[in-house]
Amino acid sequence: MYKSDIIIVGSGVIGSSIAYNLLNDGYTGEIVVFEKDSLNEFSSTSRSAGGIRQLFTTTINIQISRYSLQKYKTFPTDMAIRGEKAEIDFKQRGYLFLAKAENTETLQRQCALQRHFGVPSDFLSPYELKTLIPELTISDLIGGLYCSEDGYLDPYSVMQGYIKKAKQLGASYVYKEVDSILKENHRVTGVRLATGDIYKAPIVINCAGPWAAALSAKLDLPLPIIPLKRQIIQFDTAEPLSNELPLTVDPTGVYFRHEGKQIITGYSEKVEPGIDFSWKRSFFLDQLWPILAERMSHFEQAKIISGWAGMYSFNSMDQNAIIGEHPQLKGYFTACGFSGHGMQQAPAIGKGISELIRLGQYETLDLRPLRFERFKEKDLVIEGAVV
Ligand SMILES: Cc1cc2nc3c(=O)[nH]c(=O)nc-3n(C[C@H](O)[C@H](O)[C@H](O)COP(=O)(O)OP(=O)(O)OC[C@H]3O[C@@H](n4cnc5c(N)ncnc54)[C@H](O)[C@@H]3O)c2cc1C
Repeated sequence: MYKSDIIIVGSGVIGSSIAYNLLNDGYTGEIVVFEKDSLNEFSSTSRSAGGIRQLFTTTINIQISRYSLQKYKTFPTDMAIRGEKAEIDFKQRGYLFLAKAENTETLQRQCALQRHFGVPSDFLSPYELKTLIPELTISDLIGGLYCSEDGYLDPYSVMQGYIKKAKQLGASYVYKEVDSILKENHRVTGVRLATGDIYKAPIVINCAGPWAAALSAKLDLPLPIIPLKRQIIQFDTAEPLSNELPLTVDPTGVYFRHEGKQIITGYSEKVEPGIDFSWKRSFFLDQLWPILAERMSHFEQAKIISGWAGMYSFNSMDQNAIIGEHPQLKGYFTACGFSGHGMQQAPAIGKGISELIRLGQYETLDLRPLRFERFKEKDLVIEGAVV
């Protein structure tokens, strides 16, 4: 039998940000992180588009992403190990939601709200859009909601930065699968591994991403999270674009951004829930390319370079994370259900859970709106800007 103070299930960006923040904030207990996929090959983090934006519509998501963006700016030096910076390729090239007549009023309202919280977002005119992206077709556009501070980064490098720093600060990473979380008399007591070994701990944090709900269901504590497949396609254009792209979201929901000299694109297609990592060229040819070619003259000639699929941990109640101690089981914490915005929330969530465990309350940001109890209390966090 093994013992520790905190067990984290899942070493993706969320689990590793929590491990790092706890130790960096001075937590002196023993932290063990369990990970079933030693290369994180199938983690949502490794397959993410890495978009970082403050363009949200709820107070809590705006505050979380503002905090996280500041942390990503100093991430390379904050996570440096023996002078070697943890580069994450954070490109602050902006984030842009294009507006047609039907969504203009909504985006303009969002802009006012974001500015109220200090987000430097702007509603750009078609002329300003053309200056930003000369190849853009603007004939059907009224403008676009834009934030120049936002952008995109390399998710895998962020996760590795957190993992390496958490290890350096003393976290143990054990590359084994957790079969189930154990409890006795309404208290969590540890985990049982797939090997049958038992690890004891008074605190277990479920950061299992798309697998979080299945793990919680074994405890008879269901979470409203379903895994949904999301495909990303990388392609090349015959001619390079004039400018580096912001992460741009077409009114149809199709998004695109630069990845090196190439472009990556994706879209939240309608799929059946379930773990599925297959991707298809036909997804690009049938669903994405007709929209892309109409929106950007240079995308008419597109050559697929590669593609992949990853999983959203989709919160079917309100598409937002479920954070904090579960009301029915002492010591059982969740940090899951991030849907399509976990990368831009990871720094704030790590900080928040660290405070909740060390101090018994949130201090930097009040994450209580994301508590599990909100479902029963009918106090959902209805976010108007989801991708
Ligand atoms: C295609 C795609 C595009 C995205 N684009 C964006 C974006 O632009 N911006 C943004 O902010 N977010 C985006 N996201 C969402 C974001 O990537 C996720 O919200 C985030 O990575 C979730 O991190 P996580 O640590 O919760 O989950 P994960 O990265 O999935 O980590 C969970 C880990 O738990 C491990 N695990 C699970 N069960 C067990 C077990 N029983 N025992 C041991 N280990 C276990 C898994 O192996 C996995 O490594 C995107 C996601 C996808 C799929």
